[in-house]
Amino acid sequence: MRLINTLIALLITAILALIGYLYNATHTIEKDLYKNLNKIFIDHVAEVSKHIELFLQRYLRSNPYIQLKNNPQLRSLLQEALALTAVSPHRYVYVLYRDKRGRFRYLLDGSQEDRGEFNQKLDVNTKQWNLVYTTKRAQLFLHKDSSFLYITYLRPLLIRHKVAGVIAIDFTSELPKTIAKILSPAKRIINYLFLLLFILFLILIYQLALYMKTRKKAMIDTLTQTYNRNYLKIFMDHIDPANYAILMLDIDHFKKINDNYGHKVGDFILQETAKIIQKLLRKEDFIFRYGGEEFLIFIKNSNYDDNYLLKIAERLRKTLENTSFEYNNHQIKITASIGLITNPQKYRSLKEAIKQADEFLYQAKRLGRNQTYFSNDYTQQISITNEIQLIKDAIENGRLFIEVQPIYDIVTNTIYSFEALVRIKDEKGNTIYPTAFLEQIAFTTVYTSLTKEVLRQAFAIIKKYQIKLSINLNFSDITDSVIFNTIIEEIENNRQCAQYLLIELLENESFAQFTTLQEKLYQLKNYKIQIAIDDFGSGYSNFEILKQLPIDILKINGTLIKEIPTSKVAYNIVKSITSLANSIDIKVIAEYVENEQILNLLNELHIQYAQGFYLGKPRPLEAYLQDFV
Ligand code: GH3
Ligand code: MG
Ligand code: MG
Repeated sequence: MRLINTLIALLITAILALIGYLYNATHTIEKDLYKNLNKIFIDHVAEVSKHIELFLQRYLRSNPYIQLKNNPQLRSLLQEALALTAVSPHRYVYVLYRDKRGRFRYLLDGSQEDRGEFNQKLDVNTKQWNLVYTTKRAQLFLHKDSSFLYITYLRPLLIRHKVAGVIAIDFTSELPKTIAKILSPAKRIINYLFLLLFILFLILIYQLALYMKTRKKAMIDTLTQTYNRNYLKIFMDHIDPANYAILMLDIDHFKKINDNYGHKVGDFILQETAKIIQKLLRKEDFIFRYGGEEFLIFIKNSNYDDNYLLKIAERLRKTLENTSFEYNNHQIKITASIGLITNPQKYRSLKEAIKQADEFLYQAKRLGRNQTYFSNDYTQQISITNEIQLIKDAIENGRLFIEVQPIYDIVTNTIYSFEALVRIKDEKGNTIYPTAFLEQIAFTTVYTSLTKEVLRQAFAIIKKYQIKLSINLNFSDITDSVIFNTIIEEIENNRQCAQYLLIELLENESFAQFTTLQEKLYQLKNYKIQIAIDDFGSGYSNFEILKQLPIDILKINGTLIKEIPTSKVAYNIVKSITSLANSIDIKVIAEYVENEQILNLLNELHIQYAQGFYLGKPRPLEAYLQDFV
């Protein structure tokens, strides 16, 4: 953008310079024309005066004064001859001589008006006139007051190589006007040309302004007035990554603001957030709206150390956290998460660095939001990719397997079903548990492959042993078409299996596609698959869900169960959940049953199903088969 602006400024300067030059040129042309025309008149008068001289030389002797004094007839003849040349633009045509005292007197006067008498003295600009005598050459001078006379041309009247008098021709003051009149059409054309040029220039400027405006519009996000992705593409091609730190900022749980206050308020928050970011940064920093509520920021890095850049990021985050956004008497608070890359030049490309900033942002989200995630170890990207690769390899090489944990019917003291729990064996044969890898692969295609493989193995177990088996899925897995279709395919292949399958659903934070989830779950219910809500009574899961989704079972949050021997509140919460569930025909499973005391309390609470280390740890299915059958 800045480069383009400089170019346009240069172009305008160039055009202005050209106009200035042309303006100057037209004036020079005018002056030249004027000079040339003047010259034509002067050449002409020189010619005329030469003829006069030749004519006079034929009649006059060495002392014209004596000769003419004595011969009035000759005088009047010569004067009439001179009068023939006294036509416009010549006003006066006459001949003077210098008397002994240096004064100039008339010899002849052919003027049409104000004729001087013979030998009458004439007050003249003696200096010029004397020059004619001394130089024997013609002189030309301009009259100071040109309203009466314009110029006077003087020519020596040479008789026998001596100056015997001066032939003078005065031009009327009409001459400049005549010249101007002759020039006026040319001048008019020049003026028109100039005007035309100027209009063209104005049009050009207007078009340029228009172009700049639309161009700018195409580069700027209309809502937040920050740059958009169009400009990001151009920007990325023109910067040196070493000069910037990259900051990816995303508003936390922004969906909730839209849900609670409406889209308009969401827009307002976005605008205000952009303003705050803009205010806290400098002119040389660049802000892009990267996604809905995600801003990509380039901080000009003048050799700052990582801590300083982290401080800039944290100042942004804290300012947002401490701001109360006011809208129609609502006080709205937000937080934001930030991924910070201090050394984009260390990545293979700027694009990779931005991707990594995005990855760091997600890391900040996973770690609980409202924080800046940053790592100055740029090899971390590689290690993450390696871990993902590791899991991918494990799936492809059959090192993913399922362990099961029994869920007991504590009334009949028999196993009611099993929960399938995914494990991976690394290359050395060590077992890796999902807590160690699920977060790394979230949002990647490896997660989908993993879920598909778990489903495949779970269905294989069901098919082989015809036992009830539950698998863990997120809300977003159900709305994920690949995962959902895998479930449907497996069921279609063996319809008998469906009744043995139990899906334990874990709610994703700020899950958006609720209607789709409802539809899909009812579809699964049609196959007689059972649906359980996992971790009920914690975090986001609430009673509303029971109304909206086809639920068969509630698995009460384990931390709550663990607390029932010691906390009266926990005990009573579990009691109310159970009584509610019983009243609407929903089964209840208690997990984290770690000791006999808890188990006894579950009996007291009339909870029929229980799962936990006290009853059975996760093991390969074979370990439980004898007991079970
Ligand atoms: P997280 O903390 O994980 O970032 O959660 P979140 O809800 O902020 O993120 P998510 O990406 O789930 O939702 C972003 C929401 O932002 C969804 C979308 O409807 C909303 N959004 C995107 N663009 C706009 C916009 O221009 N105006 C408004 N009002 N909302 C927008
Ligand atoms: Mg967000
Ligand atoms: Mg988002």
